[in-house]
This record gives sequence, C-alpha cells and structure tokens, in this order.
Amino acid sequence: MFKTEYRGRFAPSPTGALHAGSLATALGSWLNARAHQGKWLLRIEDLDLPRCVPGADKIIIQQLHNCGLHWDEEIEYQSKRSHFYESALNQLLQEKKTYGCRCTRKQIEDQLLRLGKKKDRHGELVYPRSCRNLKDVTEPCAWRLLVTDPEIESSVGDFVLRRSDRVFTYQLAVVVDDYLQGITHIVRGEDLLDNTARQIYLQKQLNYPQPHYLHLPLVRDGNNEKLSKQTNATAIACNTPGEALEALQAAAKHLGLDEPELFKNRANSTQASESTINESTITQWLETAVEHYRKTRLSI
Ligand code: GLU
Repeated sequence: MFKTEYRGRFAPSPTGALHAGSLATALGSWLNARAHQGKWLLRIEDLDLPRCVPGADKIIIQQLHNCGLHWDEEIEYQSKRSHFYESALNQLLQEKKTYGCRCTRKQIEDQLLRLGKKKDRHGELVYPRSCRNLKDVTEPCAWRLLVTDPEIESSVGDFVLRRSDRVFTYQLAVVVDDYLQGITHIVRGEDLLDNTARQIYLQKQLNYPQPHYLHLPLVRDGNNEKLSKQTNATAIACNTPGEALEALQAAAKHLGLDEPELFKNRANSTQASESTINESTITQWLETAVEHYRKTRLSI
C-alpha cells in the first residue's frame, strides 16, 4: 500500500478568485494527495501585497470548500512567516551564498546591452553578476543567490531572494515553506516549471531535502494564452452543488480523467436537476475521482 507520509499542498496567490485553470491545479494536487492517502495543505502566498486583491483569499477558501476540496491542518499565510525567510537568508549570508546588489532594472538592461546579451525566452533579464565581487554592500539592496552551477547560472542568473523593498521573493518563500511544512510532493501548473530548477538549487544551498515534482498542463483560452487571475480569467461559479459539480467535471476533463462514471451526472442534464445534486453528490464524485486517479495516474 501507499506510504502515509505524503504531504502535498496547494499554494495560490490571492490575486483573484479561482478560475478553470487554478481549479484544475487544485483538483490535480488534491487527487494526487488523496490517492496516496496523504495530507493536503493550503498555503496562501500573499507576500507581494501590491498584487494581492483584498478578500481574494476568502473567496478561494470558499470555492475550495464548495468544491469539497478540503485541506488538512491550519491554513498558512506567507505574510505571517517573514521571520522564517529572514533566518534562511541569514543562513545563506553566513555561508556567503548570497550577496547584496543595488543595480536597478535599467542598469541591468544597460549592462546586458553592453555585453551584447539578450533577455531569456520569457523576456526576463539574466543578471550579469555585476555585484558579485563587491564587498560590504549595505541596505537598501536586493539579496541575490550566488549560483555557481554554470548551467543554472547561464539560464536564470544569480536570482533575487529579497528585493530592495525588503519583500522576500516567491523563490525563497516557497522553498522555505515547502521545507518547514514537510512537503514531500509538489503538484502545480507547468507555468512554474522554469522555477523548479531555481528552487531545487536553492534547496541544495540550504541543505533541504528535495520534494517530488509534478507539473500539470495549463488550461488555455481561445488564443492559446494561459488563463490567469491577472488577466481576469472568469472566476469559476460554485455557489451551488450543481455548479461545483460542473466545475469539477470540467477540471477532471482537463486533467484527462475519462472515467464515464465521473460524467454521467451532468449538472446540466434534464435528469439531474439542482435538487438531486447535493453536497453528498460532490463527496461521492470526489471519491470516484480518487479511485480512478489511483488506478490510472499514480505517477509520482
Ligand atoms: N503561488 C503560486 C501561484 O499562485 C504557486 C506556487 C507554487 O505552487 O509553487 O502561481
């Protein structure tokens, strides 16, 4: 049988309500955890406050609840965990694995231009290490990780751990939290695949164990763009069990779950009116989905 030590998580940024894409990610990571008889934790990644939408966390929590995707343990908020990120940064400082950098974006662009270097394929600037050998750079400055692996360095550069406005970056926070929460399996959207190399490298620098990773395909709109909260993708409707069932079915379809049993109770069909679809329909549907997932999908 499966080991019980599986600990997975869903870690949305509260930049808007869940849309079809983020629900598919939530369902995928939930199914993977439950199929392993594991724990599934919820962490709200609200570090970058200007990007967060007030109240979006509550909406996400309600949507997950309405869809029957229940979590274990307390919900963690990254905004309340800065002391953990601070001590990880201090550890790296003491080990001389991080350095201060005062370059502005404009300066980095100019440096890259002079060096004849281009942005990476996502239009990101690969930092040309300009401040690596400067001594005693003082705050306000960004703190960058000294990346000595040539392959990782050439594609992502010495990436930032804390910005000069003192906000810890997603890369540092996610690595520290996944470690402190004992996460063994990370199931998330493939848009984050590029970050995985950075995160594994950072885990090594902090002497953390490496979790398993699984990246799920993104839901795309008619223009083949990924659905995103920042571009105002439509929030899933799940106020009634009928709506929740329909949203879950769409997410399951996206994940390639093709068990007919999961689709027989079409929320829109004439046989299944709102009154016959209730919370226990959702619970049963999720149980069937876990069974089907366990049989067909256990890949990590
Ligand atoms: N907070 C990130 C997001 O909403 C996801 C982080 C992760 O799963 O590693 O895109």
